[in-house]
Amino acid sequence: MDGTNGAKMASGANWRERGEAVFMGTYSRYPQVIVSGKGCRLVDADGREYLDFLAGIAVTALGHCHPAVTEAIRLQAASYLHVSNLFHMVPQIELAELLTAHTFADRVFLCNSGAEANEAAIKLARIHAGPGRFQVISLSGSFHGRTLATLAATGQTKFQQGFEPMPEGFLHAPFGDIDALAAMIGPATCAILCEPLQGEGGVRPLDREYLQALRALCDRHRLLLIFDEIQTGIGRTGTFFAYQQLGVEPDILTSSKALGNGLPIGAILAKEAIATAFTPGSHGTTFGGNPVAAAAAVATLRVILADGFLAEVRARGEYFRTGLEKLRQRFPQTIAGVRGMGLILGAVLTPEAVPQGTEIVQRMLARGCIINFAGNTALRFVPPLVVSEEEIDQVLTTLGEVLAEITVR
Ligand SMILES: *Cc1c(COP(=O)(O)O)cnc(C)c1O
Repeated sequence: MDGTNGAKMASGANWRERGEAVFMGTYSRYPQVIVSGKGCRLVDADGREYLDFLAGIAVTALGHCHPAVTEAIRLQAASYLHVSNLFHMVPQIELAELLTAHTFADRVFLCNSGAEANEAAIKLARIHAGPGRFQVISLSGSFHGRTLATLAATGQTKFQQGFEPMPEGFLHAPFGDIDALAAMIGPATCAILCEPLQGEGGVRPLDREYLQALRALCDRHRLLLIFDEIQTGIGRTGTFFAYQQLGVEPDILTSSKALGNGLPIGAILAKEAIATAFTPGSHGTTFGGNPVAAAAAVATLRVILADGFLAEVRARGEYFRTGLEKLRQRFPQTIAGVRGMGLILGAVLTPEAVPQGTEIVQRMLARGCIINFAGNTALRFVPPLVVSEEEIDQVLTTLGEVLAEITVR
């Protein structure tokens, strides 16, 4: 890779200045201007190479420029880009067939993003429940999106500040406390929404017993159980969706992020009896299930669902986790624990090391490794699922060097 693709002449600093002059200040970006990528590696405008263990925030599951995905996009782009949901489209149908064939679900609604998928799930839960039952209970520490309703569902007040009043009908139960949640259920409750493992909240898994108790609560009170698998889905945890290794089936599941391996697409999945609450005109979107994005998703799912792929993800996850455990033993003053499933792993920092979280990420970046700090608690590792043991070793070695430099008081 020569790293000059699309950025000839201008240096990274130049592009950075131009970008900072024109965008609203919603993001605090890393200084790098990315110009190309291949597999688990990215190249910046100054020709430097990076190992990408963030994968566009758990999006590029097959890595950058996977040939099957690139080819599917190329073919669909040469046929048509958009015709609207007034028509049937082959890539959408193939995608929905794959999603239903490999999950609990009978029916699918396609949209463009994670927040849109959660919006659709909340609307489906409300219309299915009928008048007067509109309340959704979610968990503290959760992340469900940035639109007003999904922000209201998000259990972190820092994202809501300044945007109040939040839409009505959202309650937050303390993380992992089933009795506290049960006490919040009332006649207006229609659904419980949660991530089986909180991603943005710091790679925090809910345990099987809790999730099974949630399922039982929902059955007893006739509530819908909605799993937000936007970050945990599409093989990330070592099964197609995380629920498939937890022994708990949701009523509605939301997916996005890795679904299109980088093209924007989202989906909600549900059983027939619930899906029928949506009738013609009750929900819709102009771009939802865009055929190019859907073709990319079909190609992505065919790779992920092929024989042996998910077993590899589980094996790589175990290998990586073992390496992180060794670092925890070497640096007990910095790393308090290692948690996660498959290839979504978190190194939880000790309270003393938390103020150093951003510094660790920056030092990793300076050494060519992209990771991030999630929920102000854990270093998060979500590499492409096609990551090799050598690439994992390189990140572990670099992290060891960085942790040795950091002083924790
Ligand atoms: C990223 C994420 C979302 C929001 O997805 P967007 O595509 O950014 O709207 C919602 N829920 C979870 C669990 C996520 O990780």
